[in-house]
Amino acid sequence: MIINKTNNFDVIILGSGIAGISLAAKLSKYVSVCIIEKEPILSYHSTGRSFAFYVESYGNETIKKLTKASKEFFLNNKSSDNQSILKKRGVVYISNKHQINAKNKLYNELSESKIEKLNYKDTLKLLPCLNKKYIDSSIYDPEASDIDVNILYNIYLRKLKKNKGEIFTNIKINHFKQHHKNWEISTDNMKFSCDIVVNATGAWSDEISKMVSGTKINLVPKKRTVFCFKPCKIKIENKWPLAVDVQEKFYFKIENDIVLASPADETPSYPHDAFAEDIDIAIGIERIKNSTNFKFKNIINKWSGLRNFVKDKTPVIGFDKKISNFFWLSGQGGYGIQTSPALADICKNLILNYSNKNYTDKYKINIDLMDVKRFSK
Ligand SMILES: Cc1cc2nc3c(=O)[nH]c(=O)nc-3n(C[C@H](O)[C@H](O)[C@H](O)COP(=O)(O)OP(=O)(O)OC[C@H]3O[C@@H](n4cnc5c(N)ncnc54)[C@H](O)[C@@H]3O)c2cc1C
Repeated sequence: MIINKTNNFDVIILGSGIAGISLAAKLSKYVSVCIIEKEPILSYHSTGRSFAFYVESYGNETIKKLTKASKEFFLNNKSSDNQSILKKRGVVYISNKHQINAKNKLYNELSESKIEKLNYKDTLKLLPCLNKKYIDSSIYDPEASDIDVNILYNIYLRKLKKNKGEIFTNIKINHFKQHHKNWEISTDNMKFSCDIVVNATGAWSDEISKMVSGTKINLVPKKRTVFCFKPCKIKIENKWPLAVDVQEKFYFKIENDIVLASPADETPSYPHDAFAEDIDIAIGIERIKNSTNFKFKNIINKWSGLRNFVKDKTPVIGFDKKISNFFWLSGQGGYGIQTSPALADICKNLILNYSNKNYTDKYKINIDLMDVKRFSK
């Protein structure tokens, strides 16, 4: 096939997950941007499969800073029909009598957050479905919230469209070529060119980097399973807080009168269309059966997704050291939704500053978070 037209942009972002769309939305205000997505539909992989939670007390110190820095965006933006992104629910880290040390350790780690220790009685007041014989005590973080990922995604999408950014789906990239720092991307029937390529391909990030002879970050996609059920003969309430085992061996929340649960599996995997396996669901059922009064009849829905980590469980952002004009936004692990506004802001600033656009932003970048050197190791 003869390809005549080349689609030119300042920045081409690979991947339409939360990483790609959030950066595209922010960057397109200043430069021309397009997203290239390999799937026929948007946000088909990790972003479409998350547990949709915002917990400021979750993850390492960098993750906590990124999450807190993202809150303003979540609070200041609404859907077109005025719905909020965050809906407060709270989280209760539950402990049995054998987990007291783990609970105290977690309490010390979370000491900067607004958390409180709850005794047996107060834990059961918040989560009356827990098994009285199992539970000992808990830690309560009232600030934790559900994130409406659809609303969030559509806010980013609306911004991108308003700024005349474009999205191309169902695209198989055949190869990349660079002439004097300018990229050419060839697909079966289209040609693209740009100054900067952004690698926001989630689990596929190392594969894309290999295609351009960039750095290998040794990303490990880890599979996590979610399953849904309606327990028999027990009243459940949508307003109950999220319950998380203090050693993160399982968690569950009630949404639309259904229990959404996970065995918190972290099975090292490879980039693929992940699916829920019976063994992981069976492990989850067993753990939740022991700790609650839930009686299982059937599983209504199930899915798995990939949480992508590098060794230190901190996102990889910045320009590649081996190849010019190739930018990384990867390795967001289990926190990519709740950190997306701050990560997108940092990446936008790094890209615009690098491009000498003389851009000054009202938003002050926290230098601590500009951890650009690590990924070249
Ligand atoms: C079960 C589960 C629960 C989670 N719970 C939470 C939570 O409660 N809170 C939270 O903040 N985070 C959570 N996460 C993590 C969060 O979902 C991820 O960190 C986030 O979605 C990662 O976004 P991404 O855009 O990097 O990846 P993805 O959403 O996977 O997007 C990458 C995109 O790149 C595309 N792509 C790949 N290769 C190419 C190519 N060659 N060309 C073009 N496109 C390509 C893919 O098709 C995909 O659409 C959870 C994850 C899972 C799996």
